[in-house]
Amino acid sequence: LMRLYGPLTSLSNVHVDVMTALVSFDRVFEVLDLRPMIAERPGAVPLPGGPVSVEFDDVRFRYPSASEVSLASLEAVARPDTGPGHEVLRGVTFTARPGEMVALVGPSGAGKTTITGLVSRLYDVTEGAVRVNGLDVRDATLASLRDTVGVVMQDAHLFHDTIGANLRYARPGATDEEIWDALRAAQIADLVLDLPEGLETVVGDRGHRLSGGEKQRLALARLLLKAPRVVVLDEATAHLDSESEAAVQQALKVALAGRTSLVIAHRLSTIREADQILVIQDGRVVERGRHEELLARGEVYAELYRTQFSQTS
Ligand code: ADP
Ligand code: MG
Repeated sequence: LMRLYGPLTSLSNVHVDVMTALVSFDRVFEVLDLRPMIAERPGAVPLPGGPVSVEFDDVRFRYPSASEVSLASLEAVARPDTGPGHEVLRGVTFTARPGEMVALVGPSGAGKTTITGLVSRLYDVTEGAVRVNGLDVRDATLASLRDTVGVVMQDAHLFHDTIGANLRYARPGATDEEIWDALRAAQIADLVLDLPEGLETVVGDRGHRLSGGEKQRLALARLLLKAPRVVVLDEATAHLDSESEAAVQQALKVALAGRTSLVIAHRLSTIREADQILVIQDGRVVERGRHEELLARGEVYAELYRTQFSQTS
């Protein structure tokens, strides 16, 4: 079964009904380290501490072929235009300097999720390199990579377990004090305080039901507890009421402060704060800059803005 985890990681983009029940596996990658196709090289070294840069150097990427990946053939049937072998990233180059937020925007299928997956080595590049502070991630120990890079996927996954246990997946041994600090920073402490069983409240599909915004804030609390130096985040698209929207934005701000981040941005409020916006189209960076600059150019970003972002807050 473990062999299936790799190919399942990105299937959320694939509209094959039979797969939808399995898609939630990809969320497990937020906290667990199940990357069977990735091995540590002999002589691997730990990533450096402190603030780090993330550099993509002419990265090209193809998803593994059907012979390597048992389920990819299903996708080839479903999407003949994008079968295995199709070059998904076609020379992506950028640098997120220490502490910078880089926002990825672009149409669906452009390659944004693929780019973020390469940072945590969900997959390895086909050509080129991804480096953290100059060190190729393929030369880093898996343990240091896991500690350095924190990932929050779009639909935050919570295990059927207590809130405390859900947070401790990120840092076993965290004290209640540390957990409360993280919950406060993520704007979710009040809610947990109000629950009759507090941190011991069981959440998840069969436990206490949380709203989308609450789940996102718990996922951000989990991220804060992990305190990774690099954050990879697929911003949720789910519509939130304006109160949770504001709380999520505030939690996001805290979670990203001082960290190098790569954010698949869906909200204008996030995009406006980005140090760099990369417009991804067809596996390439077609425009880059800050919000105002890109708007003023009046090209791809300006068009995306008109059609996607101008209605959001
Ligand atoms: P975005 O996040 O911008 O919507 P993705 O990175 O998810 O784009 O997808 C880029 C391309 O890679 C698409 O053509 C998509 O069909 C393809 N793709 C995504 N995941 C897989 C996978 N696991 N196997 C094969 N192709 C994939
Ligand atoms: Mg995506």
